[in-house]
Amino acid sequence: MADKVKIGTMWLGGCSGCHLSIADFHESLIDIMDLADFEFSPVLMDTKYDEVPELDVIIVEGGIRNDENRELAEMLNEKAKLVIAYGTCSCYGGIPGLGNLFTVEELEQEAYINSVSTVNPEGIIPNEDVPALESRVRPLDAVMDVDLMIPGCPPRSDVVAEAVLTLLRNETIELPVTNLCEV
Ligand code: SF4
Repeated sequence: MADKVKIGTMWLGGCSGCHLSIADFHESLIDIMDLADFEFSPVLMDTKYDEVPELDVIIVEGGIRNDENRELAEMLNEKAKLVIAYGTCSCYGGIPGLGNLFTVEELEQEAYINSVSTVNPEGIIPNEDVPALESRVRPLDAVMDVDLMIPGCPPRSDVVAEAVLTLLRNETIELPVTNLCEV
């Protein structure tokens, strides 16, 4: 029997909705696991970011919002042979990209000082132990080599499961031209 493909998932500047879409693979996950082993995933297993193994395929949710996202993406660039930008945030910046309409200072003021749900009488803006925001949100391919983009917010589980299975069978992936989103 051929060696199984080593596959992983990672989330960067996203909302984790794309990973819920992976969790919804249902029985397709059994077919995928006939061909591949999940070696790393912040959702599917207990993993640490500094213990990412060498991977054949990495599925990445989210773009580059902060310096931690950038460091992880650069690390994955070294670890993974094939990179799938997964979801609209990863492909294009997505909803976090709306932050590009404002400066980092304006975003921090709104999040930590001005929003109606904030209770912060001392007006503290955390600058330690919190990853620093970059000046702009960038899509994944601004930082690492991307081999395949699957947009959608989140992408439809059935479409993604079929795309991953097709990839694992070494066949050509054809994504639907419309209706890539789950809802
Ligand atoms: Fe969340 Fe949509 Fe971005 Fe996926 S594409 S991380 S579901 S906002």
